[in-house]
Amino acid sequence: MAIEQTLILIKPDGAKRRLTGLAIDRLDASGLQLVAAKVVRVTETLAKEHYKELSDKPFFPNLIRYIQGEFHAIPENRILALVYEGDDAIKRVRAIAGATNPEQADPGTIRGTFGRVTTQGQFENVIHASGNAGDAVREVKLWFTADEIVSGSLAKA
Ligand code: UDP
Ligand code: MG
Repeated sequence: MAIEQTLILIKPDGAKRRLTGLAIDRLDASGLQLVAAKVVRVTETLAKEHYKELSDKPFFPNLIRYIQGEFHAIPENRILALVYEGDDAIKRVRAIAGATNPEQADPGTIRGTFGRVTTQGQFENVIHASGNAGDAVREVKLWFTADEIVSGSLAKA
């Protein structure tokens, strides 16, 4: 198994519902290593770059507003970004997060327990977790500089 890094964001609904500690607790309990963390002001540019592969989806405009905290009155568009590292980290963190649609996510997962589908059909699913190896590399680089990642295992990208 390969050592991987994966990006986690505590999304605005997660922050608003005070689920930051719970998310970190579950990630830590997995045995993966926390190698980077910071509070980021999510600009429209950053939001659009992060979700650029979804730019043609009908839910994209509201997704950009959601991740910027507009629906949860998050001051300064703040979000907590984390990088976890370890064997098979991407899949393991996805398993902790649960499926994209909270209604289809296993009830024991973070999304299955705390996520919701809004009346507009938007998925508010508490945390972001990189979906695959390509996304993970791109996203970790987008949210963190090499110096912000404290890792002895992986070369700084
Ligand atoms: N999303 C949504 N409706 C959809 C699909 C996605 O609101 O039908 C939102 C949801 O917040 C999701 C994000 O867009 O987490 C990114 O979508 P993706 O398919 O990459 O899911 P993820 O990787 O987050 O599980
Ligand atoms: Mg994704």
